[in-house]
Amino acid sequence: MTVSLLDLTKRAPEIAFQKPAVDPATLLHKSMPEAPDWRRIPAYADVTEEQFLDHKWQAKKSITRTDKLLETLRGLVSDEFIKDATAGFARSPMSVRVSPYLLSLIDWNDPYGDPLRIQFIPVASRFLPDHPKLGLDSLHEREDAPVPGLTHRYTDKALFLPLDTCPVYCRFCTRSYAVGIDTEDVEKTHFKVDEERWQQAYKYIASRPELEDIVVSGGDAYNLRAEQLEAIGTTLLKMDNIRRIRLATKGPAVMPQKILTDHEWIDAVTRVVELGRKLHKDVVMHTHFNHPNEITGITRDALNKLFERGILVRNQAVLQRGVNDSPETMKLLVKRLGHLHVQPYYVYVHDLVQGVEDLRTTLDTATMIEKHVRGSTAGFNTPTFVVDAPGGGGKRDAHSYEHYDRTTGVSVFQSPSVKEGARYVYFDPIDQLPAEGKARWADPREHQVMIDEALAKSG
Ligand SMILES: *Cc1c(COP(=O)(O)O)cnc(C)c1O
Ligand code: SF4
Repeated sequence: MTVSLLDLTKRAPEIAFQKPAVDPATLLHKSMPEAPDWRRIPAYADVTEEQFLDHKWQAKKSITRTDKLLETLRGLVSDEFIKDATAGFARSPMSVRVSPYLLSLIDWNDPYGDPLRIQFIPVASRFLPDHPKLGLDSLHEREDAPVPGLTHRYTDKALFLPLDTCPVYCRFCTRSYAVGIDTEDVEKTHFKVDEERWQQAYKYIASRPELEDIVVSGGDAYNLRAEQLEAIGTTLLKMDNIRRIRLATKGPAVMPQKILTDHEWIDAVTRVVELGRKLHKDVVMHTHFNHPNEITGITRDALNKLFERGILVRNQAVLQRGVNDSPETMKLLVKRLGHLHVQPYYVYVHDLVQGVEDLRTTLDTATMIEKHVRGSTAGFNTPTFVVDAPGGGGKRDAHSYEHYDRTTGVSVFQSPSVKEGARYVYFDPIDQLPAEGKARWADPREHQVMIDEALAKSG
């Protein structure tokens, strides 16, 4: 029997609309804690709300030494954990910087399982050997740099790194070759705040008519002083060729207080956005939330302030094992961001970065999660899952591999807009492979064989 639309509309509504109502209590993306309970941390027991909400206090009390950090945690976690983290920091190529806000968000009753602890505090017991094909700067950002700190890989867009510091340092940072202070293992290429280097970058950008889009990253735009940020934004906006600017900052995710209390800085951002609008150019903020727990009432207030000022925010997350590598967590992150009008733009499949093999997932995990996320909310709030192809291939849709061997974990991508005919290879973490794949990687003579096999099969 066929039912016409007319028949349907004549029926009682409960028959015509059969989708069952959802219990509001299950709409978890709408509810977030107002603020973390910082007083649970002995060192912050006497800190007032006014202090905690002040970005200056947060910056001043951010911890940049491992001994100081571990001292702050004493009494909150077991001695074993302290030992484990001490050994973890000794092996880590990244610098340390965590804000009191971030420390307060961590569930210290479960430090091993907490998604924020995993991102910022390494523990030796979870270390895995680096993938044999890993190299520092696996994205070849330095090779595509016409001027130090300016990467011009794609035709119409470039990445400008005006500085090398961040409000926090993330274990998984792709730019561990550049950001933070030198650690024992890594001598870094520094991009200090340097007017002369900036002038060289401006000169290059202005000289290339095909460049329309500049990502101001770092380091982190949060750490630029208000007048520096305004100078960079204004200089770029005045170039005829420039149409779009993105200010990249992890700030909203790790220190939302600054947006609420650093009036000079946020007013400078607003003026750049408004100047852009007047010149018919687009200035937006790109931020970096990885887990729904990173979003509190303070974050909501900060994002509301940006929204009121007409500042569009997009998010770029990094897929990390034990942090956000389940459909439930990723869906909650995406929906919570969408709820606050942050557009989830990208989820990066973890780059091959030194010392964080325990954080990487397989490409298979990434595409599986993507399938669950797509369709759960508006299409424009649905992130694209990308692999930043090692060797300078640029970002590729995770689903777009030419070939993927789930046993060896080798996937092959093409990137014709970057380099016609070239093939780029990505590697799953070895500990996640089936036994046969693990055995082949255990034999160095097999390494090139597996890569050649995959390249041959990729057509
Ligand atoms: C990510 C990136 C960009 C911006 O790429 P989109 O896909 O437009 O976000 C530009 N330059 C470099 C070198 C990059 O890594
Ligand atoms: S804030 Fe960004 S650039 Fe800085 S350490 Fe974290 S991931 Fe790297």
